[in-house]
Amino acid sequence: MEKGTSFVGAQLLDGKAIARQIQGELSQQVIDFIENNAVTPTLAAVLVGDDPASDVYVRNKRQACERVGLESHLHRLPAATTEDDLLSLIARLNRDEEVHGILVQLPLPPHIRSQRVLDAIHPFKDVDAFHPENVGRISQGRPRFLPCTPHGVQQVLVRSGLSVAGKHAVIVGRSDIVGKPLAMLLGAKDCPIGPDGCNATVTVCHSQTPDLAHITRQADVLVAAIGRPKFVTADMVRPGAVVIDVGINRTDEGLVGDVDFVPVAEIASHITPVPGGIGPLTVTMLMLNTLRAAELLLE
Ligand code: NAP
Repeated sequence: MEKGTSFVGAQLLDGKAIARQIQGELSQQVIDFIENNAVTPTLAAVLVGDDPASDVYVRNKRQACERVGLESHLHRLPAATTEDDLLSLIARLNRDEEVHGILVQLPLPPHIRSQRVLDAIHPFKDVDAFHPENVGRISQGRPRFLPCTPHGVQQVLVRSGLSVAGKHAVIVGRSDIVGKPLAMLLGAKDCPIGPDGCNATVTVCHSQTPDLAHITRQADVLVAAIGRPKFVTADMVRPGAVVIDVGINRTDEGLVGDVDFVPVAEIASHITPVPGGIGPLTVTMLMLNTLRAAELLLE
């Protein structure tokens, strides 16, 4: 709520509710697709090893598939799986006409080169949008798939009526999964989900950025994708800014984001919680990409 020029409590951006809304729309699109094509869009999920967090992520993704009417198959491999064995599985899934999307849950065990595995996924089945061909297409403004977490951030903003056009978006984090692709989406000239999701002026910060707080305080929209619990403190946020917390950190007090939620929520205009913020959107965007992958096969 705004009070003069100071803010006294942010509006919560309910990622769970937005994800439910999109999943509802998606369910109807999946029904139509199946009726028209007699094909059920199918996601193959590959899980190597027994990392408990990865286990939860894959379970959530498969449950979401079920909710929207997509089919999903789990390929669970032991931690000792060799890179060659994993590449053979990817090659088989690439050839399998009944598989439309392939998801390899990260992180992979250290003896497997993740990049080699991700590069092996056929670009038309690359529902995470990690393949260099798909990343290149995003950077040129003609995406085949939108990257899940960045697209989730964009959906939360646009569906909450928060335009980024003409705004200064500061992203802390430059990973290939979040920071970099998000900078491409928010700074693009066009946006598949409408003009409010692009044309931001984007600044990307990282661990080598001097005087980080000086830059984050200039943000109209501040996105934290760092992987450090409660890293973004209230003194780093301009009163009235929109704060998007992508971070998911497991701590003794449970799951926390990269933003020090309570004090930042006192001065931000809008803020995403953790959990229940961007996480549910990421999963939902994967569903959307799986349907898109099935559509591609028929184009
Ligand atoms: P990452 O690959 O580890 O990247 C972290 C980024 O933060 C790097 O660019 C790093 O800078 C930067 N950084 C680290 N310490 C910093 C500091 N002191 N000051 C400024 N920047 C700093 O992590 P990620 O994969 O992007 O994930 C980030 C967070 O988002 C994690 O908590 C992850 O679990 C979460 N995540 C959530 C979702 C979701 O669905 N909500 C999806 C993906 C990831 P350098 O490049 O200089 O090292």
